[in-house]
Amino acid sequence: MSYSAIESRHKTVGVQVGSVLVGGAAPIVVQSMTNTDTADAEGTARQIAELARAGSELVRITVDREESAAAVPRIAELLAKKNVHVPIVGDFHYNGHLLLADYPDCAKALAKYRINPGNVGFKEKKDRNFATMIEIAARHDKAVRIGVNWGSLDQAMLAALMDENHKSPKPLDAREVMHEAIVRSGIQSAHYAEELGLPRNRIIISAKCSEVQDLIAVYRMLAARTDHALHLGLTEAGMGSKGIVASTAALAVLLQQGIGDTIRISLTPEPGGDRTREVIVAQEILQSMGLRAFAPMVIACPGCGRTTSTVFQELARDIQTYVRGRMPEWRLQYPGFETLSLAVMGCIVNGPGESKHADIGISLPGTGELPAAPVYVDGKKVKTLRGENIAQQFQGIVEDYVAKRWGG
Ligand code: SF4
Repeated sequence: MSYSAIESRHKTVGVQVGSVLVGGAAPIVVQSMTNTDTADAEGTARQIAELARAGSELVRITVDREESAAAVPRIAELLAKKNVHVPIVGDFHYNGHLLLADYPDCAKALAKYRINPGNVGFKEKKDRNFATMIEIAARHDKAVRIGVNWGSLDQAMLAALMDENHKSPKPLDAREVMHEAIVRSGIQSAHYAEELGLPRNRIIISAKCSEVQDLIAVYRMLAARTDHALHLGLTEAGMGSKGIVASTAALAVLLQQGIGDTIRISLTPEPGGDRTREVIVAQEILQSMGLRAFAPMVIACPGCGRTTSTVFQELARDIQTYVRGRMPEWRLQYPGFETLSLAVMGCIVNGPGESKHADIGISLPGTGELPAAPVYVDGKKVKTLRGENIAQQFQGIVEDYVAKRWGG
């Protein structure tokens, strides 16, 4: 795959968040957030472990009240027992200054504090509360994310900018003023944190919006004005395909322009749904764009009138499931296997061609074709599979290939 179309990465100052580097020369980091009650230490530790095992490299938790803050050290302890060492980020709003000051073990156990400058207090209390959190972060040598969100934008700043704009000979439209307010809130808060003694290599900025075009505009402005590391995410992206499509549309444009050091996909799960979905989607965005490799890619044609049986869909599904299931073991035995590409194609029209582009490809017989499935390895036809157990035979070929190529 050629990566030449990706524009050069916007240069940012690397921030160490526990064991993970964000920004600088580091690869783009995938993160996620729990939806458990943090006061439930067992439940939260369980979900953090699931997210980490799915590939989340940082996990954020809500720290909203005393019981939550008190549970954080216990969560860290439970994770260590499970041999899970993912850095934990605390999400603070309104009372973060109190919780961090009153629960020093919580402050120590977290690798990063997320502070929303629109939610730290009003008037003179705002700066005082913000300063308290920054001073605690500096004292414990922790990273901070200045997390602006347009839903909780500093209203005093927005009102002042609206006034200023009103008097300008060339006034901007209201949306542009809001973009400016979001960007200024992030950058000014970051500069204030630096004045308070938190170094730039401890500060990440995010400026989340829920509309794709707003998000793109805001992050372009941020990237042009600061070298702080940037956390990307479309806030309140929504459920199902809407959330995935909107997040991908926004993030792909920015990532293509080299903007973004860490990403989170804010998907609303179905009731009882799997929280790890947001991790998989984040990985798939980065991998589809050729920015990182997390898991073998299975390319499958959509099927059409030439694939009237379900054999093709079943094989595509079985291969995907097989590969995911084998990943924990392959990760230990075959470093580098993540770049493996597989093609499962439904008929002769594009089957052989697409199969030749993949590391391993199979072209199944379409309607009316002979019941034979040619298999291609590294672009060459190596055998033709027939019979009832094509899926198992193909899995055997994949297993041999992975062992030979990455086992040495
Ligand atoms: S490869 Fe064949 S089965 Fe698949 S979409 Fe194309 S024509 Fe249809």
